[in-house]
Amino acid sequence: MNFFRRLFKRKPTVQCPRCLGKGRVDWDDIKRLGKELKWGPGRCAYCNGTGKVDPALMSKVAIDETYLTINLPYAERKGVIDGNYIISGTWMPGK
Ligand SMILES: [Zn+2]
Repeated sequence: MNFFRRLFKRKPTVQCPRCLGKGRVDWDDIKRLGKELKWGPGRCAYCNGTGKVDPALMSKVAIDETYLTINLPYAERKGVIDGNYIISGTWMPGK
């Protein structure tokens, strides 16, 4: 089992810091995180729409991580979480 799967299988325990537990990111959240030009309102990609996250995820991925959006295909989402970005098929070094 890869890390990503284990991470999301564990029981989420804390309120999602990106959508504040709503399960959706709205314009207030987007403004709060300074992503007006990058994000639109929609299902929260950080908690997958559940409103709760595992603290282990918060230690891996910044809540305002621009590239973790709901539009990411699985492999790219995993890449962001593992700290290596795949953008348009190209691997970029992690932060
Ligand atoms: Zn959320």
